Amino acid sequence: MSLRLFGCVCGQFHSPGAGMGMAGDRVAVPIPFYVIERPDGVTLFDAGLPAGMCDPEESYLKVLRTLDLDVTMDAGTTVARCLERLDIDPAKVRQVVLSHLHFDHAGGLAELPNATLVVQRREWEAGFEPEVASQYGLRKRYFDLGHEVRLIDGEHDLFGDGSAVCVPSFGHTPGHQSLRVRNDQGDHILVGDACYNCQVVENRIFPEFSDHDAMNRSLDGLLTLREADTVMVFGHDPDQWADKPVLPIARA
Ligand SMILES: [Zn+2]
Repeated sequence: MSLRLFGCVCGQFHSPGAGMGMAGDRVAVPIPFYVIERPDGVTLFDAGLPAGMCDPEESYLKVLRTLDLDVTMDAGTTVARCLERLDIDPAKVRQVVLSHLHFDHAGGLAELPNATLVVQRREWEAGFEPEVASQYGLRKRYFDLGHEVRLIDGEHDLFGDGSAVCVPSFGHTPGHQSLRVRNDQGDHILVGDACYNCQVVENRIFPEFSDHDAMNRSLDGLLTLREADTVMVFGHDPDQWADKPVLPIARA
């Protein structure tokens, strides 16, 4: 079955450069999510930011600011608005594969009421263990919204034809996963936060809260999946979403 892959950016994350493995005192990085369209329905990989963060007084934004972090988004770039620009009804999104449960990847779920979530079992369980959830910053208010949930363990072929395969890449959070998508646009590995940007492939500067040994193993594993023309789409890489977006952001 044919498949089309789009990328959407729903806001910017602001952080000290070191926190993103980048040079610079302060950096602003994009928060992307991905749309996989097939004749039988739409699947997302990640769900972007909570629409509530258009309001600078949103309560978790205030917490982030105490950690020297911030987010900016506007009403035109919520997950629902991004989908509508692609002529996709958010209520018709059938499933959302979550790389992990952080607010900038699961936050848009409230706008996708009819989707089934596809999550690694160990990630979902971590989200409900108070100590682990707090260590990794997994906030139930953004992901525990009553969606149907399909828990998977390890590698998982999403459509049964090899076109989209979940690849476990633990470490950023306990059950982080990436997604390999193959179609006539090419071979893309949607890395998620297993690697924030292309510099981190070399410098291996990972966030403080994460499990660095596991992140190194996961990133090594993802790199071995690369073939000659594989494109790695990193979690928050400003270069990949600048003048020439790494994936189509609109219908041609
Ligand atoms: Zn992220």
